[in-house]
Amino acid sequence: MADWKEGMPPVVRFAPSPTGYLHVGGARTALFNFLFARHHGGRFILRIEDTDRKRYQPEALAEIFTSLKWLGLQWDEGPEAGGDAGPYFQSQRTALYRRHAEELLAAGRAYRCFCSEERLANLRAEQEKAKMAQGSGYDRHCRSLAPGDSEKLLAAGKSYIVRLKVPDARAVAFHDLIRGDITYDSAQLDDLVLLKSDGFPTYHLANVVDDYLMGISHVLRGDEWIASTPKHILIYEAFGWAPPLFAHMPVILAADGGKLSKRRGAASVLDYQRAGFLPEALRNFLALLGWAPGGDREVMTLEEMIRAFTLERVQAKAAVFDETKLEWMNGVYLQGRSVESLLPDVRAAWEKMELPAAALADEAFLKKVIAMFRERSRKVSEIAASSLYFFRDPQGYDEQAGRKHFKAEALPLIDALLERLAIQEPFAAPALEALYRKLAEERTVGAGKLIHPTRLAVSGVSFGPGLFEMLEALGRETVLRRLRQARGHIAARGQDGN
Ligand code: GLU
Repeated sequence: MADWKEGMPPVVRFAPSPTGYLHVGGARTALFNFLFARHHGGRFILRIEDTDRKRYQPEALAEIFTSLKWLGLQWDEGPEAGGDAGPYFQSQRTALYRRHAEELLAAGRAYRCFCSEERLANLRAEQEKAKMAQGSGYDRHCRSLAPGDSEKLLAAGKSYIVRLKVPDARAVAFHDLIRGDITYDSAQLDDLVLLKSDGFPTYHLANVVDDYLMGISHVLRGDEWIASTPKHILIYEAFGWAPPLFAHMPVILAADGGKLSKRRGAASVLDYQRAGFLPEALRNFLALLGWAPGGDREVMTLEEMIRAFTLERVQAKAAVFDETKLEWMNGVYLQGRSVESLLPDVRAAWEKMELPAAALADEAFLKKVIAMFRERSRKVSEIAASSLYFFRDPQGYDEQAGRKHFKAEALPLIDALLERLAIQEPFAAPALEALYRKLAEERTVGAGKLIHPTRLAVSGVSFGPGLFEMLEALGRETVLRRLRQARGHIAARGQDGN
């Protein structure tokens, strides 16, 4: 937007290409645009850059919408939301880009290039052979075609692309709101393509035309686009438009300093959902990738982030994607969640674990289990995975724990427990604890001699929620069955001599 002044509400956009899933880098860009717009009382536009039909993936589009909504980044204008500057799919705006390319042709700021693919390939091969650094790229062959010749080729139906006339060696400068002043030499820039031979615009043309027509005041995007910005500046110039302000977000690196890979941080937003992360935790974590609110504040609500977000506090240096920190943060948010609000997600995770259908029928029971595991979990998926023994008997016993707690000396104690638990009333945590303490005293053993084998017998592992709470939730029948099973297991082991 040509005439944006300090204090005016900004207009920003997130402009993903639906060529793959929305990864965390893209989500961070969307988030910063969202926070910036909200902080300054501006508008956040979603625009779909889908002119590359070869790489277009319809599922990717749905994923973008779902991911943004899951993260709570509702756009003010765009697909579904509507708005005055639509349509918001570039594929529905191609006539507009063609018209603008024509305009530049008519003004002599662009030209038709009829060079064949073959000629361009030969050119590249030659340049490579000569190891040309400077001046490599298109040799501007068609830039000097006489207008008459160009018209003749056009009339003969020869296929062409439209290129921008990049001015000869001169500085192309812009001020990046995060990185400061940046200057490129136009001699480094090719006569870039605006319109492809199929009549579709390139990213550069469509992006500039839309940013202008949609009144974008600030372009906030990933730093991989920084080399495109001088090209865009030249396109703005050619149209006689004032460019928007630019800010390029720092790159996100893996913890080892390398690039993010699918395994390390570059997974899709929905992969994080599937892996049991909470949207508010991922959002908070993403906000801190390159932005710091000041002080040592880290865990913040969306409102707090909106209040604190400014570009001045976005750093230029690379941000590091630290999975351990994300897990920690997720744990913090998990503790703050009500059991009620976790139920749908944990239930979905349980459902994927092939439990008998009836196992998940009792909602009150499910909530009890979630409450027991929430504080010792960092992820929704962990709650589901570590609580499986509430729904089916353990499939085996942790070996190391077995060697320690399933010794022959445990047999008479388990027998005593079986007898007493069968008649214990009420079968409730405090009373069960008293039963265990009393029996330990009678047998002059530490309570651990009863508690550890019981825990291993009912859960298969040596850690988990408080034992008595667990026994109460499992119920008498299950506890007795599992103790008997464990008893059989210990006795059989004894005979084998292990
Ligand atoms: N479509 C580009 C992308 O996929 C947009 C880049 C930009 O924000 O200008 O990221």
